[in-house]
Amino acid sequence: MNRVYNFSAGPSMLPVPVLERAASELMCYGDSGMSVMEMSHRSPVYEKIIADAEAKLRELMNIPDNYKVLFLQGGASTQFAAVPLNLIGRTGKADYIVSGQFSGKAYKEAQKMGYNVKCIATSKDTNFDRIPVVTKDMISPDASYVHICFNNTIYGTKYGYIPDTGDIPLVADMSSCIISEPVDVTKFGVIYAGAQKNMAPAGVTLVIVREDLLEYGDPKMPSMLDWKLMAENGSMYNTPPCYSIYVAGLVYEWILSLGGLDTMKAMNEKKAAVLYDYLDSQDYYIAPVQKDSRSMMNVTFVTGVEEIDKKFPKEATAAGLVNLKGHRSVGGMRASIYNAMPLEGVEALVEFMKKFAAENPKA
Ligand SMILES: *Cc1c(COP(=O)(O)O)cnc(C)c1O
Repeated sequence: MNRVYNFSAGPSMLPVPVLERAASELMCYGDSGMSVMEMSHRSPVYEKIIADAEAKLRELMNIPDNYKVLFLQGGASTQFAAVPLNLIGRTGKADYIVSGQFSGKAYKEAQKMGYNVKCIATSKDTNFDRIPVVTKDMISPDASYVHICFNNTIYGTKYGYIPDTGDIPLVADMSSCIISEPVDVTKFGVIYAGAQKNMAPAGVTLVIVREDLLEYGDPKMPSMLDWKLMAENGSMYNTPPCYSIYVAGLVYEWILSLGGLDTMKAMNEKKAAVLYDYLDSQDYYIAPVQKDSRSMMNVTFVTGVEEIDKKFPKEATAAGLVNLKGHRSVGGMRASIYNAMPLEGVEALVEFMKKFAAENPKA
C-alpha cells in the first residue's frame, strides 16, 4: 500500500492512527458484535460513542458548560441558512464580514431569505488577499449577530485577531481551522464547522452555541435547522451521521493523546513555517496573501505563468504529492496542511518545489 501526501482542501487527510483504529474496529466494535455503521443510534453502545465524542471535544476546546455541542448534518453550507433562522430574531438585523467565497455565500443566503443583513467590511477589492480590518464602531449597535469566516480555505487567509463585537454575539465559520489551535470559545456566540477539513469524514457538521442564544429561533424554521430542538434531543432528533461522529471522537482522542490543542498548534506552526519560510526566501513562487493574514492551514502560491501553474500539480501528483491545484476561482496552487498532514509531507513538498523551479525556468 502506497499512501500519498494528500494536500486536499477537503475532504482531506485523516490521522493514520485514527484510520488504523477505525479499521481494527470496522467489523466489530467492542463486544457489540457489529460495526458502528450498523448500530442503532438509540442503542446504549452508540449513546456512549456520541457522549464520549462530545466529552472529548469539550475537554479539547475547553468548552464552557453554558455552550451546547451539536452534531448535525448538511455541511457548513446548511448553517449559512440556519444561522439567521436561529439568531436574527434577537433584533431583526445582522452584520456580515465578507472575507472570501464562503462568507460571501453565507451573506447571500441570509439576503436570499429576505433578512435585513449588512456587509460591514470586505476585502473583495483586493481579491480577498487579506482579512478586512474590523473595528467596533463599524458594527451595527442593533445587530443580532456578526458573522465571520475565521479561516478562508480558498484564499488561504485567517483572522490574526478575534473581532471585538462587544455584547453582540460573534458567529464564526471555522470549517477549515477548527481544532488546529486553541481558541477562546467564550469570545464567540456560535462556532460552526463542516467536519471534512480537519475533524472527520464528510457528513457531520459541528455547531457550538451559547445556551442563551437558543431563544431567538424563527418558529417557522424547518425542524432540522433548529438548534434548540437539536440541543433538546442531544443531536438525535433524527438519525445522526453516526459513523462520522464516531471517527470525530477518535480524532479528538488522538489530539488529546498528543497533548491537546497547544501541541497541535505548535506542530501546525512548524509545518506552516517550513512552507512560508521557503516561499519568502525565493522569487520563483509568489505567495499572494498579505503576511498578517496568512492561514496556517491553507497555503496558496502561484508562479505567475499559467502554463507552469498547470504543470505543477501534474508533476507533483507523479511525485506522490496530490491535490495541490488551487481552487478554480483563484488558480495557482494551494497546499492544505491540516492537523493530519505530517511535517515530512510539507518538507517533501518544499523539496519538490525547489526541484520544479530549477527544472522549469520562466522564459
Ligand atoms: C468547505 C467550507 C465550507 C463548505 O462546507 P460544506 O460542509 O461543504 O457545506 C464552508 N465554509 C468553509 C470555511 C469551508 O472551508
